[in-house]
Amino acid sequence: MTFDNSTGSPQFDSLGLKRVINGRSWVTVLGGSRMPSEVQQAMADAADTFIDFHELNRRAGERIAQYTGAEAGLVVAGASTGLLVQAAACMAGQDPDRILQLPDTAGMKDEILIYEKHRFGFEICYRTAGAKIKEWGRGEGSLAEQLAGAINEDTAAVTYVFGPGFPCDLSLREVVAIAHEHEVPVVVDGAAMLPPADNLTKYIADGADLVTFSGGKGVRGPQSTGILAGRADLVEAARLNMSPHASVGRACKVAKEEIAGLLAALDRFVTMDHEAEWATWRGWSEAIVAAGENLSGVRAVIEDGHPNRQGPAAAFYFDDDWDGPSASEIQDRLAAGNPSIHVGVGNEVGEIYVSPVALEPGEAELVAEALWTVLRG
Ligand SMILES: *Cc1c(COP(=O)(O)O)cnc(C)c1O
Repeated sequence: MTFDNSTGSPQFDSLGLKRVINGRSWVTVLGGSRMPSEVQQAMADAADTFIDFHELNRRAGERIAQYTGAEAGLVVAGASTGLLVQAAACMAGQDPDRILQLPDTAGMKDEILIYEKHRFGFEICYRTAGAKIKEWGRGEGSLAEQLAGAINEDTAAVTYVFGPGFPCDLSLREVVAIAHEHEVPVVVDGAAMLPPADNLTKYIADGADLVTFSGGKGVRGPQSTGILAGRADLVEAARLNMSPHASVGRACKVAKEEIAGLLAALDRFVTMDHEAEWATWRGWSEAIVAAGENLSGVRAVIEDGHPNRQGPAAAFYFDDDWDGPSASEIQDRLAAGNPSIHVGVGNEVGEIYVSPVALEPGEAELVAEALWTVLRG
């Protein structure tokens, strides 16, 4: 079989980059997602314009508010910026002196409470704004008592993280009830939680004061975008703490063409047929799973809605009877090929998976063929 091994971009080809088939889902290290043609068109149209930028992001925010059910919205430079300006908004608010003072938080409430099982690398975005991270959930008493006990006069916000491997026995609603009793806002990281599209409105409906999502993962907008939605006063504070205002978020610029692209992506996302897309993904995973059939020591299965994978993934488990290459060797061999095929390795030893969500038509067959070859030596 012959492959077209161009990346698709003459610029990337001229740099000598290999074409990548992305079986790991919408991860930043492989380029995030592919932008559908209507998103690319919206960016191209916007790139040759001048507009009032402040007005642009306010009006874009109104569209985001409609889609999320929140009072207000804002386009931010990735969910990472969403986290940074959540912290800035909860600490400095709309006060011009405080906005200029950050990340020095003297005189401000500056602690963000995080549940012990929600600790994650993106905390650095809160700390960049000047916030201090304070963990709760390892002490005595019920979780509700522990959260209530952790709130004090320095608490700026309570954060709640949604994502694979971030459990919490208190629901968002329960956390919101406790925080609001103490007049403390709750900020949510839902970066990778779209699709399902229901999540656009769910966390707001559960009472979150601010929610951020990535624009460049499952929404398939520009990789550098994100959405912030929530309470009007806090969203306005977030806007003032971000580019183009002189503020702790000045370096987090989102450009006019990115805003146009994100809006086009959101319009597409809220109107598209998600069930049909899921069925297409499932068909691709079935083709990939077939590569593991009738091999001793290999269990190849479709995992629909596995908490640690996006979409209906094709998973391969290797047991003691397996005498072929290890999971990480398989991963390395596939990645070393041309095109370079990237698959995930799971938490268990002896497990690989292919998430179909970032594949394009025709690529599942290439993945299946390459896996077939690697598994059979
Ligand atoms: C991807 C991700 C982020 C960062 O989002 P960007 O849009 O890439 O800035 C933050 N938190 C979680 C849980 C994520 O999965």
